[in-house]
Amino acid sequence: MTVRPIRVLGDPVLRDPAEPVVDFDRTLKKLAKDMFQTMREAPGVGLAAPQIGVPLRFFVYDMYDGTTGAIANPELTVLDETPVTDEEGCLSYPGVHYPLARPGSVRVRGQDLAGEPVTVAPTGEEDDPAYFARCLQHETDHLRGVLYLDLLPRRLRARALRLGPVPSG
Ligand code: ZN
Repeated sequence: MTVRPIRVLGDPVLRDPAEPVVDFDRTLKKLAKDMFQTMREAPGVGLAAPQIGVPLRFFVYDMYDGTTGAIANPELTVLDETPVTDEEGCLSYPGVHYPLARPGSVRVRGQDLAGEPVTVAPTGEEDDPAYFARCLQHETDHLRGVLYLDLLPRRLRARALRLGPVPSG
């Protein structure tokens, strides 16, 4: 396993729509392992492939409560529009968090590492189901070139961009 450098805001790979995963092979499994290690070392609760420069529709997550997985070609459906506001951050704009309202419940359908269909949705078993739903939305957004900063209210976004990320040691 290899920790790979995380791309940060300004890198064009974060803005390009990612390509579908078509090969469910050893390369994808290696990518998943590298992404898990990169995410855990950062640390973060989710990481999308474009964040390490791989333009594929693929992400991994680990909520540190047993809720963990890797999803290819995710399609997200909002189950409950009722917004929940919580602090959100991104490894591609590290060290800072801003409050963002998002739908409180979603479902993601995609494929696992073997290419088999898989559905992921908060079950209520999570420590914080709405935060898991937030993670799924955040990572799916990455695959269409959207960062959570784009979704902040205009003034807050301007402030976030002005203050910048906080580089780690
Ligand atoms: Zn992110």
